[in-house]
Amino acid sequence: MGFLAESLGRIKPSPTIAITGLAKELKAQGKDVIALSAGEPDFDTPDNIKEAAIAAIRRGETKYTVVDGIPELKAAICRKFKRENGLDYKPSQISVGTGGKQVLFNALVCTINPGDEVIIPAPYWVSYPDIVLFAGGTPVPVVAKLEDGFKIKPEALEKAITPKTKWLIFNSPSNPSGAAYTRAELKALTDVLVKHPHVWVLSDDMYEHLVYDDFEFTTPAQVEPKLYDRTLTLNGLSKAYCMTGWRLGYAGGPEMLIKAMASLQSQSTTNPSSITQWAGVEALDGPQDFIPRNNKAFKERRDLVVSMLNQAKGLKCPKPEGAFYVFPSCEGTMGKTAPSGKKLATDEDFVKELLAAEGVAVVHGSAFGLGPAFRVSYATSNKELEEACARIQRFCGNLK
Ligand code: PLP
Repeated sequence: MGFLAESLGRIKPSPTIAITGLAKELKAQGKDVIALSAGEPDFDTPDNIKEAAIAAIRRGETKYTVVDGIPELKAAICRKFKRENGLDYKPSQISVGTGGKQVLFNALVCTINPGDEVIIPAPYWVSYPDIVLFAGGTPVPVVAKLEDGFKIKPEALEKAITPKTKWLIFNSPSNPSGAAYTRAELKALTDVLVKHPHVWVLSDDMYEHLVYDDFEFTTPAQVEPKLYDRTLTLNGLSKAYCMTGWRLGYAGGPEMLIKAMASLQSQSTTNPSSITQWAGVEALDGPQDFIPRNNKAFKERRDLVVSMLNQAKGLKCPKPEGAFYVFPSCEGTMGKTAPSGKKLATDEDFVKELLAAEGVAVVHGSAFGLGPAFRVSYATSNKELEEACARIQRFCGNLK
């Protein structure tokens, strides 16, 4: 038995963070690299939010706070859930943590016993299965096929549920596919869940605001009120509010679970930064007009990237409803030979050879549980996107 805990052996470092790190390293060495691998908007945090943080520092809001969120922030979150999702939560039903990732971690670690199963539609955000494994549970992936717009069907969900199922992790719009479920598609899934009262729903709504073409966002507890008592509705400020570095996430759910999560957090990180929490109040209560402005840019970029990638030989790129990712299949390039002489056998080969030959960093789909494919993050300028897609086209065209 080694020094490190067994639980650590069940997880791996986030592959998206690893590839983004590699791209940064190559850039620092002077290589011409375009990174389309990071999951964060290129836009800066709006000024009113920054000012609220500066004001909080000046007021001396620099002490420990209540572990899972100051009352002012919890109240702002309750207003948000009511205003945007039609959900009634009391402050005692709100948990605030250091990023959505911590809130998710708390929820899973607080509820999973060895042998518990967690249904995770694939392609999935890389952290879901690893946190489940760390907590001692068993991830049960359900494949959402490209032909189905990367959305799972109710029959597939039904089939995956067993007496051991503890949670379904639902993520719409999705990282990595950008797919978002319509109200009708979501209702078809919640109809299945209603029949299985032992299954809880963890809805990760992190990309709620990033939807295009008049798409209407909905969340499970809103579409099916019968699920309210066994749903944790998770959200955060990282993506739509361009606040990835500030670290603030939150969730609304049953008091019993929220209390357990606070207890775990009290023995790990305590409260999220007091300054960030005050910035969060301004983010949620302040003007929201930058969101449609940013979305206009994201939609243009999505359309540009989808069109250019579909012109690359061997790639197939569906047009997703939201987030800032596309997830093209590279099945048509498998078995071909890259300029280095390497034969492409997996999507990991594809992304490594693409980075070596053309200096474009993307993340292989198999890291997200579905390949051969890759994830492109289009949260960067049109100029960089055009150049990167032209390089991807050239790389695919040069495969023999
Ligand atoms: N959920 C999804 C689907 C994500 O993509 C991310 C970030 O990449 C998060 C949650 C967590 O975000 P944060 O911890 O920055 O709030």
